[in-house]
Amino acid sequence: MIYADNAATTKMSKAAIDAMLPYMEEYYGNPSSLYAFGQQAKEALENARSRIAACLHADPREVTFTSGGSEADNQAIMTAAALGMRRGKKHIVSTAFEHHAVLHTLEKLKKQGFEVTLLDVHNTGLLRPEQVAEAIREDTCLVTIMYANNEIGTIQPVTEIGAICREKGVLFHTDAVQAAGHLHIDVKEQNIDMLSLSAHKFHGPKGIGALYAKRGIILETIINGGAQERGKRAGTENIPAIMGMAAALEEACAAMDEHSAKLTVLRERLIHGLDQIPYSELNGDHKHRLPGNVNFCFEGIEGESLLLLLDDKGICASSGSACTSGSLDPSHVLLAIGRPHEVAHGSLRLSLGEDMTEADIDEIILAVTDVVNYLRNISPFWRDLVNGKRPHIFER
Ligand SMILES: *Cc1c(COP(=O)(O)O)cnc(C)c1O
Repeated sequence: MIYADNAATTKMSKAAIDAMLPYMEEYYGNPSSLYAFGQQAKEALENARSRIAACLHADPREVTFTSGGSEADNQAIMTAAALGMRRGKKHIVSTAFEHHAVLHTLEKLKKQGFEVTLLDVHNTGLLRPEQVAEAIREDTCLVTIMYANNEIGTIQPVTEIGAICREKGVLFHTDAVQAAGHLHIDVKEQNIDMLSLSAHKFHGPKGIGALYAKRGIILETIINGGAQERGKRAGTENIPAIMGMAAALEEACAAMDEHSAKLTVLRERLIHGLDQIPYSELNGDHKHRLPGNVNFCFEGIEGESLLLLLDDKGICASSGSACTSGSLDPSHVLLAIGRPHEVAHGSLRLSLGEDMTEADIDEIILAVTDVVNYLRNISPFWRDLVNGKRPHIFER
């Protein structure tokens, strides 16, 4: 099997698993217990917090553990909204192609009287920092823009956006779930006020994440109950997962340059190979993208069929369209970069992993080429394109 869906989740690293086991087998105490056995767990918790903070160039007191990226996004946005509400500021700036953890939270706030400006990300999947400056108003309480997009991998000018927000005195949150462990993050240098991350996207365990919030930002609670996480996130801490996350993030950050160089070579080989397929196009800017992300649209193809046939050939990939969620709508990300519905349905995301080889890439290129040809040959839609009954969208 070739696993090319690392943007969906990653395999846990040996270091992450090894870091977790002692906290399941031996040190299983509750960090809130006062006896020494509980305090060992408490020490581990604070040790992990410090190590994660160090990877972000943050202070440990600025890191709150959550159940993952979705919860961190929810908490960051609800925090800014609560602060804004108190000052009569009910306007939020974001983009049309954020993760649903952000977009659906913004939808909820709209029902509570907030106004949301979704900035255009153009056909490149990239925002210009000036757009943020222009969109900020007197009543803006938050700018929330993802660091790197989970579908098309485009990397936003986060440092420039942070500088603009700081100058204008507006809170800046970034969903860095795809960036953490893969791209350089320095919350101080980049003027980031809040940042979300999730362990299972960098070879850590699922169900654990963190929210960085700059000192002075009082988090709004989403999960109410006990006084864990300084009263900002109730629930007994998942110490094994937290230890796994710390180990995975340290490992990913230490090997970042090496991994990035390796993935970029594989990515370029794959992009070059898929580019040979007629009437296909890469989605999102080629240069400003995650080292492991490849996302293509193929004319006359239906994403789900493509995935199922690739699965038969032992290749795990993903498509932009959200049929799994019971909807036939194409990906909101591909529509946001201006892809027409009919090609947005024929998209394929291949997100590469550090342990892949050039031989894997070549196997993927062969398999995708085969499957696209096969599907086009049996497609009445494709026949119409070939016979000139419908215009092509892409150039050959
Ligand atoms: C995966 C992902 C999330 C959600 O993270 P979970 O830990 O799965 O809740 C949020 N944002 C982006 C960009 C993601 O890729």
